[in-house]
Amino acid sequence: MKNTKKAETVKKYTSRTELIEQLTHWHAKCGVAIRQAECVQMFKEICARLKKTNGNKVPMAALVQKYNLNDTELFLVLFLATSQLLQIITPSTCKVTALLQTAQTFASSKEVMETLFDGKSILFQKHILTLTGGVLHIQKNPLLAPPAAGTARSSRRTFSAPRVLAELNKYVIGQDSAKKQLVAGVFEHLAKCAQNSDIPFSKSNIFISGPTGCGKTYLCQSLARILKLPFVHADASQYTQTGYVGMSVGNILQPLEPLATGNKLPLSIVFIDEIDKLSEGGERWGIASANVQAELLRMIEGRYFEKEEHLSHRQVAWDLSRVLFVVGGAFEKLQVKHADKSVGFTPQAAVRKKALAAEDYIAYGMLPEFIGRFSYFVQLNPLEKEDLRRILLNPYNGPISQYKKLLHTSAVIQPELVEKMVNQAYERRLGARGLQQQVELLFQEQFLQQTVKVCL
Ligand code: ADP
Repeated sequence: MKNTKKAETVKKYTSRTELIEQLTHWHAKCGVAIRQAECVQMFKEICARLKKTNGNKVPMAALVQKYNLNDTELFLVLFLATSQLLQIITPSTCKVTALLQTAQTFASSKEVMETLFDGKSILFQKHILTLTGGVLHIQKNPLLAPPAAGTARSSRRTFSAPRVLAELNKYVIGQDSAKKQLVAGVFEHLAKCAQNSDIPFSKSNIFISGPTGCGKTYLCQSLARILKLPFVHADASQYTQTGYVGMSVGNILQPLEPLATGNKLPLSIVFIDEIDKLSEGGERWGIASANVQAELLRMIEGRYFEKEEHLSHRQVAWDLSRVLFVVGGAFEKLQVKHADKSVGFTPQAAVRKKALAAEDYIAYGMLPEFIGRFSYFVQLNPLEKEDLRRILLNPYNGPISQYKKLLHTSAVIQPELVEKMVNQAYERRLGARGLQQQVELLFQEQFLQQTVKVCL
């Protein structure tokens, strides 16, 4: 009798929008205090209505019982199941960071996720969510590589330098000594992080230089991908001093914020490119480049960096001890100046392997105290024709193999054409970027005959 009465008061949702609105309202009202009695009551009502609406197709009650879900977890199930919520909940109404963290922990229950989504959620189709090895990854920002299976707070991972180097060799052609130095620097950082002690250690930040298109970004990006670490790529020339118009230096850390554990940013690699554009004497929007350099220095050298959290707008002293900074630039003029003129005057040949030292970068206009924060100076060489040929034909992810995969073709490119592309790329002095343009031109025609089916 009691049950019948209760069932009568429960109304079905007439539309998905109605459900989403009620959930949004619920979460806006309760915020993080979703365990309060009133909030729990409201939430139970939502669950009851949902159950009635779905005719038990989404077996919430069974899930709660079987997996002993708490309210937060159950909310997350709904949150994720009603996929549009991810877009609807605005930063001011939702503490997304906490939700994402809880979701990641909770969603390690593979069975729950599979039961619920059956792999068909639009979030999976759009690759916002991926389920690997029973761990849910939430791809909120395209700059971030999805965190690896097992990167949850308490888990440990093993990294092997020889294996990483071998894998890197498959993708990055040439630059042997740079690859070794970079891997050594990254493993020094990993070793320090493995100490797991609260005693701060000095960071082994890395400074990387080399002509445009020779693989500075690609090298760092590939390394982060192989290590399955989040990777952020920032352009130093886009930033200004905190408090001035424009993007402040602290924004570089923003993509890592959703992955933080408390105030501790995750084990990750941040690559700050175009650092040579901040040499002393320059200015942008009326702000001296040296001031921006000094601001970057504050971020790179310190354990903590205070900035407003993007979503909550609260001031946070972010712990950067697990973030490895790699700073890079072309320093083209500097490299030509240091060229061994005896080898010839073509731009590539002119930029020889003579090692640049800290004092060269200081003479270029980098602040001595900034340069002083780096333990590794990695120098990439200009790409020679043979390097370009190997990059072009690289079966792992060379431009030709990429386009072949894209077009599902096994067409063979004639050696004369390969040679022509290599020569043209070499003459354009854009490094391997020149190859990409050549290959795009080559396959352009074929795209005009394509029919493509894409999940939206
Ligand atoms: P930069 O040195 O200007 O940062 P990038 O790393 O962006 O150059 O290189 C541009 C592209 O050229 C990369 O995305 C990659 O596809 C290719 N590339 C550059 N250098 C190499 C290399 N050594 N091996 C393989 N591919 C490379």
